[in-house]
Amino acid sequence: MNSTKRLFLKASALGAASTLIPSAAFPNIIARPASPKKLKLTFKPYTLELKHVFTVAVSTRTTTPVVLTQIEYDGVVGYGEASMPPYLGETQESVMAFLSRVDLSKYENPFELERILGDVDAITSDNTAAKASVDIALHDLVGKIMGQPLYNIFGYEKDKTPMTSFTIGIDKPDVVRQKVKEAEEYKVLKVKLGRDNDKEMIETIRSVTNKPLTADANQGWKDKFQALDMIHWLKDKNVLFVEQPMHKDMVDDNAWITEHSPIPIITDEACKRFGQVAKMKGVYHGINIKLMKCTGLREANKMIALARGLGMKVMIGCMTETSCGITAAAHLTPAVDWADMDGALLIKNDAFKGMTVVNGKIVLPEKPGIGIVPV
Ligand code: MG
Repeated sequence: MNSTKRLFLKASALGAASTLIPSAAFPNIIARPASPKKLKLTFKPYTLELKHVFTVAVSTRTTTPVVLTQIEYDGVVGYGEASMPPYLGETQESVMAFLSRVDLSKYENPFELERILGDVDAITSDNTAAKASVDIALHDLVGKIMGQPLYNIFGYEKDKTPMTSFTIGIDKPDVVRQKVKEAEEYKVLKVKLGRDNDKEMIETIRSVTNKPLTADANQGWKDKFQALDMIHWLKDKNVLFVEQPMHKDMVDDNAWITEHSPIPIITDEACKRFGQVAKMKGVYHGINIKLMKCTGLREANKMIALARGLGMKVMIGCMTETSCGITAAAHLTPAVDWADMDGALLIKNDAFKGMTVVNGKIVLPEKPGIGIVPV
């Protein structure tokens, strides 16, 4: 056996065929092996324009910066998104700087989600929105490769989606009344509180509708006794639950409110990631999970399971996002108590078509992956 033939047999025995074989010696037998399929990440900045000036307890704005991602593999493209409302500390620059450090070309199997997303998470200790943009695109990609919508892959029933609330931002009474009229489609309205006109906001809404409300104080209340008085008043106004009454670091005060509250108290700002969920038990009745806080669908689904195991309530919320991030999260909503999936409804220039709301209820697309279509 000559040396060229021995090399050929050795390469065949290895199977992987990545060894460079001298094809000139056997031009009709040995083809140069195809290069392995690899994941490729690309991204671009995009600015969301809001329909209304959006005011919460701590800020006011008219735009939200996002970064749109794509992961390509063997001709299939998955879409993802990072949304960065200013109070969370990420920017388009920080997200793109992070994504520049993510090298997906070293992975050949997109189904290794735990390994790939674990490696991405290990790059830094924060950058949760940037990480979510990779997670969302990768889930969209594998769903498309499998030919299955994400709710099937996660094992949830698409008909079990809840109603979504629609957020009414803090504003002047005539604008609030107008916003409520525009929200006719929605059966539950979410009200931003935590300033000195809370009762006026609620009374204004109650002057035009009797729909159930949810309230988000966004850490705005400063005194636990006043907060509890307000919560009792809100219950009488048919408010279903209250989100983050006091500052997230005021653990004892929030726990005291939860202990005495006649309606569920849900945390948002105090619980971002899986590792914090168990600490919320006893301080709040439940948690508000958002993909941009928790690095994406993979971790969000684990948080749902853990919170359920602890006997806690679960809601899924969102930032101002395109229908990409919103619809991705919506695939998990059959597993939660409440959903606040209105982020794409508050913007003028959505980049995708995705989930819809019919009679106030979330309707998931049935196409593979997230099921969104660029517009
Ligand atoms: Mg909130």
